[in-house]
Amino acid sequence: MISSSAFLWHGLLPSRSALEGKTPGMDFGIRSYFEMFQKMEDTFKFCVECKKLPDSLPDPRSLRRCKRCQNVYYCGSECQRLNWPSHKKFCKKLKLAAFDRLTEWLVFTGDIPFHTGTWTKNIQDLQGWEDWFLMQEHLDEKLSAIKAGHYMNILWANAGKPKPSEVELMESIKRVTTDFVSRPVTIGLGLSMFHLDPYAKPLTVHVVGASHAETLNARVTDYDELSQMFPKHQGIEVVMVGVDVVDGPIMRPPLVAFGPRQRVYLSSYKDLYHNFWESQVETQQAARPDLVVAFHAGMKVYGILLGLSSPMKFNAM
Ligand SMILES: [Zn+2]
Ligand SMILES: [Zn+2]
Repeated sequence: MISSSAFLWHGLLPSRSALEGKTPGMDFGIRSYFEMFQKMEDTFKFCVECKKLPDSLPDPRSLRRCKRCQNVYYCGSECQRLNWPSHKKFCKKLKLAAFDRLTEWLVFTGDIPFHTGTWTKNIQDLQGWEDWFLMQEHLDEKLSAIKAGHYMNILWANAGKPKPSEVELMESIKRVTTDFVSRPVTIGLGLSMFHLDPYAKPLTVHVVGASHAETLNARVTDYDELSQMFPKHQGIEVVMVGVDVVDGPIMRPPLVAFGPRQRVYLSSYKDLYHNFWESQVETQQAARPDLVVAFHAGMKVYGILLGLSSPMKFNAM
């Protein structure tokens, strides 16, 4: 849901290193944060009813935003009226989506996720995200720190939209956090479901069909939640494989065999999976997978898990 906006940020974002650099200057082609947020908003500037772009209107400024959700645009009151019967079903949700795609910028600045804690419950006993948040010590302080943070202030000073209420901000931070953490947690649940024991031996997980959504601005620490799920594990390796893998810090060779214990080792390989398999796995330059996961590899199902109880079975596929 939210991760789709990674595409929107693509090309607009300063690199993480530019953000973390000593000079706060804008050395990434966009002159100001205001301009960055404007460009992001521009991708939404078309009439959702008649699909006209601002350029094709007599006056581009006549494009008006829905006042309730601040998310969709109309070329005029007639199109807004015609669109309302369908839009009213989504207007409230779109308002949240409009917050979240701005809040998601804080993933790129490094504010989200906050430093998470070791899981104090068994995986099977967790019912949902509320339980996950309950395991986080000093949660209110952590969320408040993000809410009052430097980049959050920059965001709302430049977003060109009214700042949401404190409660709305908090909820948005939580949604973006769960969106971020959902991938490592899904892999952890997959390991658990297929009785793959990270305490018994190091495990290798392949994410097939990995694309922008998984790899844009990815950090080598992005799957560290797995170490919180399985503290003191024997080593978990996650390899992102796909033709659309974005170059970055995680573009490093997969491990041949045993990974560093108690650590998650994230790497990526830019190619089709069968090419990766033939050139790396078959030649023993990369470890065989214990689990292969696809998040949204062009299929309309979220989080498909393939249990590889035996590599033989996989070879037969
Ligand atoms: Zn229109
Ligand atoms: Zn609306």
